Amino acid sequence: MSRLLSMLLLFAFSGASMAASPPVPVTVSVPPQAYFVEAIGGDRVQVRSMVAPGQSTHSFSPSPRQLQALEDARIYVKVGHPEYVFEYQFIQMLERRGAGVRVVDMAEDVDFRPLEAHGHDGHHHHHHDDHDGHHGHGDSDPHLWVSPAIVRAAAPRIAEALEAADPEGAPVYRERLNAFLLELDALDAEIRQRLNGLDRRVFLVNHPAWGYFADDYGLQQMAIEVDGKDPSPAQLARFIDRARAESVRVVFVQPGFSRRSAEVIARELDIRLVEMDPMSKDWGATLRALSQALEDALS
Ligand SMILES: [Zn+2]
Repeated sequence: MSRLLSMLLLFAFSGASMAASPPVPVTVSVPPQAYFVEAIGGDRVQVRSMVAPGQSTHSFSPSPRQLQALEDARIYVKVGHPEYVFEYQFIQMLERRGAGVRVVDMAEDVDFRPLEAHGHDGHHHHHHDDHDGHHGHGDSDPHLWVSPAIVRAAAPRIAEALEAADPEGAPVYRERLNAFLLELDALDAEIRQRLNGLDRRVFLVNHPAWGYFADDYGLQQMAIEVDGKDPSPAQLARFIDRARAESVRVVFVQPGFSRRSAEVIARELDIRLVEMDPMSKDWGATLRALSQALEDALS
């Protein structure tokens, strides 16, 4: 082998192993999805979330500057719920510019569950043009990323999109996907072990974001908010009676939503109030903490 050729080979080899190609830009809608993409993509991806932690998805509308910063996205992992209009707008914009973006839809094959409503006195109100940042009830539930089963179904599709955008990384994506699936199975088993034996199955929330999780594990969430707002005093009084009748022992509050009524209820019923954030990027730890808090409160 000529000296030049061996130098070239050496260069090519070290180039492949050391100076990795630039990371694949991936955009997601909510921070927990960044957890999923990073689990599979590792340092071959650069993930950005449209909605920041603590922001509400329900009123979300990206600024033109934010859209511009995201336009190099080669993959978009969307939640895929019709309420998230910003996803369609973003994808449309990318397509108008002729950017070849691959879209992964987490809602593929998901049957949307109805969103919990309480104390609806007759009518459902649809405040899609509302100003308080919350959605009206009577809609279907968009918070599907809190279900390990739904995440497990979407994970191979995320890996496929990464492989298609970055074929060189295929072995890495496959290996990391397998590790992530094992992590999901272990998490699911751990949650079941904590929750299976519990007699009580009901918990309260200020905002009903845990419905898919509750469905997976045979639990029931009762939502305090009414049409995205604090209940009236009369509604609150009736709600407290119902919660007492259900022997409820814990109320979870989500950052970014009013906790005033939750505090009243926790005091009135003398039950635990626990902050739990379904928008946290630390997805696995959050579900683990949620199941631990449920076990502590309901056993
Ligand atoms: Zn929500």
